[in-house]
Amino acid sequence: MFFGKKIECTHDRVHPDTDAQYCPDCGKYIENKWYLTRCACCNIKRKTIIKHGEIQPSSHYCPNCGAETFRVELVKTINFIDINFAVLVKEINEEKSKNRCQSWVERQPEPIRLLGLNLT
Ligand SMILES: [Zn+2]
Ligand SMILES: [Zn+2]
Repeated sequence: MFFGKKIECTHDRVHPDTDAQYCPDCGKYIENKWYLTRCACCNIKRKTIIKHGEIQPSSHYCPNCGAETFRVELVKTINFIDINFAVLVKEINEEKSKNRCQSWVERQPEPIRLLGLNLT
């Protein structure tokens, strides 16, 4: 048993092929977002990684033109070519995570009523 600080959820059970869903482990509303980097000079797609929490190309310089600068692009619909370049970022939608909480509170009286019936 762990009594210490809870380890931050990595939302592993949120499927990469859905756009968004609630994480079964932490209950947050998770949006799957794909990002890739492009060379700022020749616009070629760069193989993308996440390092120190930042989206960046896997190599320091563009293999096509040698430039160092890049830009990050959000991929709206991932395809089988881009998937080789892109990284998946599981972003928490705090707004929707809160909404789920409210609807749970509204539905709460129901099981209590059922419990009362069982007692009589
Ligand atoms: Zn989670
Ligand atoms: Zn380039």
